[in-house]
Amino acid sequence: MAVPKGVIELALRRILNDEHPVLRDRAREVKNINSAVQRLIDDMIETMHDADGVGLAANQVGVPKRIIVAAAGEDEVLILLNPAFEALDDEEPGVEGCLSVPGEYGEVPRFCKIRVAALDRQGKKIAFEAEGLLARILQHEIDHLNGILFIDRAVRMLDPEELKSEDES
Ligand code: ZN
Repeated sequence: MAVPKGVIELALRRILNDEHPVLRDRAREVKNINSAVQRLIDDMIETMHDADGVGLAANQVGVPKRIIVAAAGEDEVLILLNPAFEALDDEEPGVEGCLSVPGEYGEVPRFCKIRVAALDRQGKKIAFEAEGLLARILQHEIDHLNGILFIDRAVRMLDPEELKSEDES
């Protein structure tokens, strides 16, 4: 559902860039799913949508907790606490960018298919398989929780000319 801008109060959080040390630390397990955590999750979703992102980790907004949100289709957002994954298939390179590394894109190998285990926002254990773009997004976001950025894993960065042709295609 679309909400007219200005009618609800958005709680956007500032997205930190890759020079901030919180992006290089291992985020801590969520143990107590309290109202502050619920508020943080709502803010992360708003912030991700506002930035036209497809995923966001809590430490990108300065909170070193193991929480990620990820776009899982048109209107669906996955909310995962303490996520972990195992690979179910080989790696394949694909182009990635990051809200914390604006304007840069690189080719990053990721597992094509993974099994994810996590808690949902109520603290219930969930497990599911993901493939393709969603698998890529989740691996990127879980990396954030371990202090790893896509630029660490990129086999090569795209130059501005390539970015232009990507936009046109
Ligand atoms: Zn990122």
